[in-house]
Amino acid sequence: MDTPTRTSDETTAEVRDRHRRHARELIRDEELRLYIDGQWVDSDSGKRIEVVDPTTGGRLASASAANAADIERAVTAAWRGFETWGDVGPGERQRTLQRIADRVESNLERFARLDVLDNGKPITEAREDVELVVDHFRYFSGVLRTLEGRTVPTGDDQHVETIREPYGVVGGIIPWNFPLLMAAWKLAPALAAGNAVVLKPAEETPLSIVEFIHTVGDLLPDGSLNMVTGYGPEAGQALVQHDRVRKIAFTGAVETAKGVMKDAADTITDVTLELGGKNPIVVFPDADIETAVEVATDAMFYNCGECCCAGTRLFVHEDVYDRFVSAFVASAESLTIGDPLLESTDLGPEVTNTQRARTEHYITLAEEAGAEILTGGTGTERSPNGGRRNDSRPDDGKRDSRPDDGEGYFVEPTVISDIPHETRVVQEEVFGPVEVLFEWSDYEEMVRQANDVDFGLAAGVVTNDLNAAHRAARDIEAGNIWVNHHNAFPAGQPFGGYKQSGIGRETARETLEAYTQTKTINFNLETSGESWSQ
Ligand code: NAD
Repeated sequence: MDTPTRTSDETTAEVRDRHRRHARELIRDEELRLYIDGQWVDSDSGKRIEVVDPTTGGRLASASAANAADIERAVTAAWRGFETWGDVGPGERQRTLQRIADRVESNLERFARLDVLDNGKPITEAREDVELVVDHFRYFSGVLRTLEGRTVPTGDDQHVETIREPYGVVGGIIPWNFPLLMAAWKLAPALAAGNAVVLKPAEETPLSIVEFIHTVGDLLPDGSLNMVTGYGPEAGQALVQHDRVRKIAFTGAVETAKGVMKDAADTITDVTLELGGKNPIVVFPDADIETAVEVATDAMFYNCGECCCAGTRLFVHEDVYDRFVSAFVASAESLTIGDPLLESTDLGPEVTNTQRARTEHYITLAEEAGAEILTGGTGTERSPNGGRRNDSRPDDGKRDSRPDDGEGYFVEPTVISDIPHETRVVQEEVFGPVEVLFEWSDYEEMVRQANDVDFGLAAGVVTNDLNAAHRAARDIEAGNIWVNHHNAFPAGQPFGGYKQSGIGRETARETLEAYTQTKTINFNLETSGESWSQ
């Protein structure tokens, strides 16, 4: 990551104007509707959800709030869609997924900017998300051709074979942190395997998903892809509880997932769960400090810390601790906070005011627990245009590009040390730019602490010692270990969590299988054919 200046010369009004202009150009219709059976339709209740730009606090659009009646319509349509799509052969499914990838790729900038408006993520990161969306549709278009059954040797009198069949109708429920990418993680494998889908985006971030359907909807048979915006406890829960949905693929918070599992239990519905993390990054004594700082900065502050894989617990060996910490704090302070539509911005706002308040609450808890706040924190004062600025930093006289406080949901990159491992800010997922530091000397004790959380999604290891990297990768309880980098998600690499971070794996070949069920066919060879030969 380069080290751009922290502030920009823009005024708040200029930022607002840019966002209004983008919203006018990119959003087709400010009144978003549901997509059921190949049609854009109004919701049963007529209720709407306001869609807000987290950078400015301004209104972007409103989305239909679906209820159980809308879910019923969508599931019925999906079964009709499955009658067609489920019969489409693998060659044609492959071509369709490739065309979807091509169209997304041709509109990459549009999708990226919509996610910036809706989520507040920096444009440079939003483009990477859309590139991954394209990669995922291409990957599953290829790997679907490998979906095969097998024959099982059982002796002379029987012939046993298996085939893999789609579930039929799958429900996908996704969070707001990577809006279009999370949709692609559900849609690409589900459609590749021949299922019809009812997708429920997060209530906060429907824009890029609605645009995706406008862009590719005509490539799929009516009813095979349905999209219902709505609140989780209403639309989401109705989807999970529906007795004709055969699989639920959920990404979101652990507490929500517990409810999803319980609801799915009533109909014995298969679930895939991709949940949160409290991920350790381990810096070994031999690590190159510059590399370690780069890895740790990316691991923590990518997507403004609103990333399930964020490296939020940083374990640094005592031999390099002091050098590392001063360089890491300097790196956090060098990040440009501001308008996420600008190429130079590293950190945009949190997605909602609620999320900002939640992050600040955790910082306050750390302060109350006697932690040292090395940078950031809630002790900030307003910058000249109303943005929040850490009062310990010199004011260079420039204005920053954050809009008035109370309108944009910005949080300072925060680094905390001297706090016991059992405290809440260390144990719970904050989902904002808050890093907690630990110094280690004894390897076994460091591993014990690294594993001493309920989560097990991801971890990072920074070292040039191959044996140390291998050993730590094996000892840390997590589904994904990155060595000397972080947040790499190439399609084909299985992604998922240990412990309470989830069940199942996404983005890989086994994901495709998870959207199918195995049918075993056993032939009795003793009797077969007797009737024909007479
Ligand atoms: P959330 O659990 O609040 O919401 C996720 C989705 O579930 C939303 O669409 C929401 O409307 C829906 N929902 C809410 N209540 C529901 C219910 N009772 N029944 C059915 N659906 C319901 O999570 P969030 O705040 O949107 O997202 C942040 C969380 O997502 C974090 O915990 C993060 O770690 C996790 N996440 C995990 C991964 C991963 O792959 N492991 C990826 C991204 C985000």
